[in-house]
Amino acid sequence: MKIYNTLTKKIEEFIPNDENKVNMYTCGPTVYHYAHIGNLRSYIMEDILEKTLIYNGYKVNRVMNITDVGHLSSDSDSGEDKMVSSAKKQKKTVLDIAKFYTDAFLEDFKKLNIKRPETIEPATNLIPEYINLIKDLLKKNFAYISGGNVYFDTSKLDDYYILTNHKEDDMVVGVRDGVEYDDSKRNQADFVLWFTKSKFEDQELKWDSPWGLGYPGWHIECSCISMKHCGEYLDIHCGGVDNIFPHHTNEIAQSEAYLGHKWCNYWVHCEHLNDKNGKMSKSNGDFLTVSLLEKKGYNPLSYRLMCLQSHYRKQLIFTFENLDNAEQTYKKLKQRVIQLNNTGEVSKELYDLYNNKFKECINDDMNTSSGLTVLYDVLKSEKLNDATKIALIGSFDKVLSLDLLKEEKTTVDAELVKYIEQQIKLRADAKKKRNFDEADQIRNDLLNKGVELKDTREGTVWSIIK
Ligand code: AMP
Ligand code: ZN
Repeated sequence: MKIYNTLTKKIEEFIPNDENKVNMYTCGPTVYHYAHIGNLRSYIMEDILEKTLIYNGYKVNRVMNITDVGHLSSDSDSGEDKMVSSAKKQKKTVLDIAKFYTDAFLEDFKKLNIKRPETIEPATNLIPEYINLIKDLLKKNFAYISGGNVYFDTSKLDDYYILTNHKEDDMVVGVRDGVEYDDSKRNQADFVLWFTKSKFEDQELKWDSPWGLGYPGWHIECSCISMKHCGEYLDIHCGGVDNIFPHHTNEIAQSEAYLGHKWCNYWVHCEHLNDKNGKMSKSNGDFLTVSLLEKKGYNPLSYRLMCLQSHYRKQLIFTFENLDNAEQTYKKLKQRVIQLNNTGEVSKELYDLYNNKFKECINDDMNTSSGLTVLYDVLKSEKLNDATKIALIGSFDKVLSLDLLKEEKTTVDAELVKYIEQQIKLRADAKKKRNFDEADQIRNDLLNKGVELKDTREGTVWSIIK
């Protein structure tokens, strides 16, 4: 299995530390608002990665945090805590806000068929672990206390920027959005490990620490949560590309300073989902959620399909036109699958042949769009009987997770499906012969039977009018 590693900037063969088991860490959401479909693009990519690993026979130990403290409005340790400002606006406690949006986030996972990680750990659960790690960094001289906070000293590392193309100069105030000059830092790239009340008086959740009453910085949580559940040697760490700097860069710095050895071998990042204004983000307030797509009548799995049609390392532009196309493709795909009859014997030879083709695609840096092409090849193939097709579709869907074999609640009788498809073919023939009256007649007859036709780029799709 090959995967692009942000650390080496190359596509590499994946070799886990342990032969059969993979430790995989995912940066979880900051739960001050609903997740938008951009966030969920990253989680769909991570889901595909986990399922590809499982497809290859690995056992995966997947861990995800929930950020419920310490993520400030700027990623560079300035501004207000995102959780605190959301709680103030909604006149609720931080923990109420965290619970509400965590539940909503996991609901979105269900709707998008994203597998829940085995371990989900809220950041506020591990305060003693953060304190211990910070104490150790102070002892080893990788950290210092200044202006009431504990900072990590990035000048102690030769390769602080190992994950990113940033240069120290880029950190000069004003170059990056949201970077404010902080006099207490020895170097501008230094970051906060522990805040005390001296800096942010209005923090709702605070804990006792050797440095005073305070709360942890954002980055420390991922290092500690990962080490607690995945041990000292992590195989894969993932997130969206905006996490590369400073979040993941800082995670590497503090984890490796603490451990004294390399921490994580593969860093996998998903490119952004953009809308017409650029990166979809929670902070600009104007974003789309899965529930909103549902309210507009879309099936969330059409969005999943839309993500799988493009490569995770390419930016994806969201438009409703693209989503409409994905929805039609999804409907058509399901309709083609419904028509298969589970008869005949599965041909082991052909099953293996196509399964290997599919595996080659997903093992090639998660090339899901070529995986979908193999799915279409299976559906089109005249060599494969229906039983083999169904077995293959079931196998591919372990990774794609598009519910391809799942019967819809309003199951349509197989005979009716056959009839509709025949009529669609007759209508297409009539149109080809320019017999438009006949074509319209077929469409109207179907409409009278409660079946609506829509002509799309993917061909004609039908739906039952409720
Ligand atoms: P947050 O809740 O802001 O901490 O982000 C949760 C995850 O979503 C992180 O892995 C981010 O990198 C990722 N993310 C944020 N915005 C986008 C976007 N527009 N497209 C793809 N991933 C994103
Ligand atoms: Zn993280």
